[in-house]
Amino acid sequence: MSPAASRAAYEIAPGVHVTTSARYATTSTVVVRDDRALLVDPAWTVAELDGLLAWLGRHDLRVAAGLSTHAHHDHLLWHPGFGEVPRWASRRTAELADEWHEELSRQLDEDYRRRFPDSFRSLTGVDAGPLADPFADGLDESIELIVHDGHAPGHTAVWLADRGVLLAGDMLSDLELPLPFHPDDLDAYLAALDALAPVVSRASALVPGHGNVTDEPLARLDADRRYLDAVLAGADPDDPRRADPEMDDAHRRIVELARER
Ligand SMILES: [Zn+2]
Repeated sequence: MSPAASRAAYEIAPGVHVTTSARYATTSTVVVRDDRALLVDPAWTVAELDGLLAWLGRHDLRVAAGLSTHAHHDHLLWHPGFGEVPRWASRRTAELADEWHEELSRQLDEDYRRRFPDSFRSLTGVDAGPLADPFADGLDESIELIVHDGHAPGHTAVWLADRGVLLAGDMLSDLELPLPFHPDDLDAYLAALDALAPVVSRASALVPGHGNVTDEPLARLDADRRYLDAVLAGADPDDPRRADPEMDDAHRRIVELARER
């Protein structure tokens, strides 16, 4: 059995399981209540999605709903085996997933397109704030959607208030620098960090879209603010994430944005 097929999920808080893709350390989060699961950004390869489906089966879980944090292709993936259930996103994300459908589809792997030709379908737009009926069973749990335009328009963080866990989407990563591109908008990114700050300070764990889970969420926020403050002040921040050549390229683009601001 390949590692992907025997895919491990780690329980980082009661009923919050995280698996990490071999590709870009992309996280998938499974929030469990009783025999139901809410899937946030399930990713990435066909083998890994098969592995996630098998893991759900082994744990007798059925998928109640899915949620995509933003309209980038690696956050819009799905396996038909998860079922025909609601797939939520912020209203803006749902609009953009439709508007960008062709371009996003082109970015999918060939084998993903072949295997799951119809899985890349429209999302259901929901409002920011409390997520109604998160496990599609008529029972409440305090799950709050924080919508901002930091990394993508309509980007959504998921605050699992009852479990003390923040699913940050593509923000607050230990591997990725702040990525305020398409549209290039540093101010929206700074505003997004401010919007996330109140829940970051209450969270006991944080799951980034790419990277490692942390039990020190505030340190992530501080690192991103420190980095951006330094760039905006014209300094050359010594950030360990720049050791990745792709991130050093991103850094150069951020410096340009800061100059134009
Ligand atoms: Zn993204």
